Amino acid sequence: MNNPIAYTKPSITELEIRYVTEAVTNGWGASCYEYIERLEHQFSSYLGVNYAVATSSCTGALHLGLAAAGIGPGDEVIIADSNWIASVAPVVHLGATPVFVDILEDSWCLDPSAVEGAITANTKAIIAVHLYGNLCQMSELKLLADKYNLLLIEDAAEALGSEYHGKKAGSMSDFGVFSFHGTKTMTTGEGGMFVTNNSQLYEKVLTLSNHGRKRGQQKQFWPDELGFKYKMSNIQAALGCAQLERINEIIKRKRDILHQYKKTLAHYSEITLNPEPTGTVNSAWMPTAVFSAESGITREKLQQAFTAENIDARVFFWPLSHLPMFAQPNESSVSWSICNRAINLPSYFDMTEADIQRVVSVIERTMLG
Ligand SMILES: *Cc1c(COP(=O)(O)O)cnc(C)c1O
Repeated sequence: MNNPIAYTKPSITELEIRYVTEAVTNGWGASCYEYIERLEHQFSSYLGVNYAVATSSCTGALHLGLAAAGIGPGDEVIIADSNWIASVAPVVHLGATPVFVDILEDSWCLDPSAVEGAITANTKAIIAVHLYGNLCQMSELKLLADKYNLLLIEDAAEALGSEYHGKKAGSMSDFGVFSFHGTKTMTTGEGGMFVTNNSQLYEKVLTLSNHGRKRGQQKQFWPDELGFKYKMSNIQAALGCAQLERINEIIKRKRDILHQYKKTLAHYSEITLNPEPTGTVNSAWMPTAVFSAESGITREKLQQAFTAENIDARVFFWPLSHLPMFAQPNESSVSWSICNRAINLPSYFDMTEADIQRVVSVIERTMLG
């Protein structure tokens, strides 16, 4: 059997080890928030936003943001059908109703005209998820949010460092959320971030994230309201500080790997990889190959071929409307079609050129039948 090729894996250097060791050795008592505050400052300035709150996960950050914005029973929240469950679970937990809309064939993200068609008197928010590093059409979504007075939210968990006309993903809406799970572009093991330019949302999220204890509350053990417990630890934040110092290097490697796949597969007109429209930067979290419907290449064929080569390639997200807890079949949609003929390709920092070539040969062999 060939050596295994993982689909993602963090890049850990002496810097990460030094910061984590420092935090676990000294980051207690009066110093127990130092790396957390440092990470929040570093992250907000990287992104170009006013406020950032470190959290225990992206799911937690989204839950906090939606709760702070007052999303609840009777409210409808529009989201693309092709998504990981984390982007929708908090909507359901708050008692609101998710409304799934189709994606565009080229970006694999929200179709703005489908969004407009799904807006009702009960619609309160649009969650724009930037899938696999690709960007949603933010100008169009912003127009809709303004026109119908809706909250616009970005789940930028998969697009840290992607840019839309000079603005970073996650910084273009009422609030943005990020994930630092071990599979993501930068990691803290588990972890996330909430970002916003809105001071009221920021204060509210800060309070909710800490069991409802307001900043500056002098009374001990005194929650001002019922909140959540979604804080990041100082040790995780230390790892995050090191990763964020290296973010340009990490993203450059991600982009190089995607470019390499694009270059070597360019002559197959049946294959499309993550797009990068003019005026945007795709930070290439997850290189993904989508095969044309005519190619006859299926998810099952691809999985079989990659498994035989000991390569961990992952399937494209199942439509949320396909999952048992939602079960709203929509078989004619792009979301239902694309997941049958697509595959995520490995793309970790320390991958070698030979590894990339092995992945490419599996695709080439599959194309030859
Ligand atoms: C990974 C991911 C999440 C969940 O992140 P956690 O930190 O595991 O909660 C949410 N949204 C998207 C788009 C993701 O890719």
